[in-house]
Amino acid sequence: MTGDKIDTTEKEKKLIKTIRIDVDKCNGCRACEMICSAFHAAPKYSSNNPARSRIRIIREPLRDLYVPVYAGEYTVSECAGRDKYTIDGKEYDECAFCRASCPSRNEFKEPDSGLPLKCDMCEGEEEPLCVKWCMHDALILEEREEQVEDKEATLEQEDLAIGLESLADKFGMDNIMDAVARMNEKD
Ligand code: SF4
Ligand code: SF4
Repeated sequence: MTGDKIDTTEKEKKLIKTIRIDVDKCNGCRACEMICSAFHAAPKYSSNNPARSRIRIIREPLRDLYVPVYAGEYTVSECAGRDKYTIDGKEYDECAFCRASCPSRNEFKEPDSGLPLKCDMCEGEEEPLCVKWCMHDALILEEREEQVEDKEATLEQEDLAIGLESLADKFGMDNIMDAVARMNEKD
């Protein structure tokens, strides 16, 4: 008898999708940015603006640098680490590989509202569109099964939570509650 607790949390299997990036194959064509921003336009495909894309290409043709980076988590404050990387003789700037929507730069922010953007793996599509549109095989879809807790938040709920968190940082929770109360009064 080991005294270990029995885990009674219900778990279910979920297909986890990730995208592997082969930097050497990226030529900076930006087709991935175009299709991502068009897919997430409202209504869908009504416009394309790379500034709204959830994948950004760090492009420096003179130094032959092309780095696809996916939008990851929102972060409230800047990090302390500012490292430069040299890989295969190429020097990459500070923050080059960072996926965060962060206060110190403009990447991964919706240009009109300033709200953070995050890759949602093109929810509803069988294959992420940036993978489909990359003619150079720089983006490779990988899938694996993982056991996850039953009560996982949906992507929509996650997006809402991230948006609210960033609004609360910007305007303060009390002001947001006041604004919501005023909106309810108008209804
Ligand atoms: S579509 Fe592919 S090759 Fe073109 S910029 Fe995006 S990742 Fe690079
Ligand atoms: S997987 Fe979809 S949401 Fe994510 S970066 Fe690619 S096109 Fe955009």
